[in-house]
Amino acid sequence: MKQRISDNLVQLRGQIADACEEYDRDADDITIVAIAKTQPASAIQKVVAAGIHNVGESRIQEAEPKINEVGRIARFHMVGHLQTNKVKKALELFDVIQSVDSLKLAEEINRRAGELDREVECYLEVNTSGEEQKYGFAPEETVSMIKQISEFSNIELTGLMTIGPLTDDEQQIRAAFRRCCELFREGRELLGNEFDTLSMGMSGDFHLAIAEGSTMIRPGTSIFGPRRPREKG
Ligand SMILES: *Cc1c(COP(=O)(O)O)cnc(C)c1O
Repeated sequence: MKQRISDNLVQLRGQIADACEEYDRDADDITIVAIAKTQPASAIQKVVAAGIHNVGESRIQEAEPKINEVGRIARFHMVGHLQTNKVKKALELFDVIQSVDSLKLAEEINRRAGELDREVECYLEVNTSGEEQKYGFAPEETVSMIKQISEFSNIELTGLMTIGPLTDDEQQIRAAFRRCCELFREGRELLGNEFDTLSMGMSGDFHLAIAEGSTMIRPGTSIFGPRRPREKG
């Protein structure tokens, strides 16, 4: 599998380079977060050995044994919905929480990080697709949430994250990403250069995200292959 992961990464980097060429972006400005959900701990070790420094997971229960097994070999990003009763655990495991999707969750992260006398890096998740089953702040409330949450003393708010709409319609996907990029620019005007990350684009749509200003993409299957059936919990 090592071979496959490194081959897939070579291909992915080529596709990122092509998209950057096409849309006049610099490939050095695009960070890859390899989303390892459903993959074994050994897959994380392999992707890190292949030169990836950022790894994402979407469930605490699944991430905990894997991260404990591999140790702190990468920056770990939480990208899935986080329940408030799992915040304490999330702070033990993750360097970045990308999926801050409510004020209540932000308050709990701030409180728990305060207990640890720590600042935790967070992005706000924006529901740009309007799909009801998706988590995240509505675009209309995002700027006011950026203002509010950036004041929290134990949260370092450095970006936005969004999941593109589930559709084949490229115009619709691009419109959602464009909206998120506008919000990101507004946030940057408010908070300055430390607000520097726009996390958008997965295996199927990262080229469109790059077109619309993404600085961080979150491919999973294009690096690791198809998701594996869950073994437990
Ligand atoms: C699963 C997941 C990804 C990766 O999706 P792929 O289609 O496998 O690239 C990215 N971001 C989030 C939030 C995810 O849950």
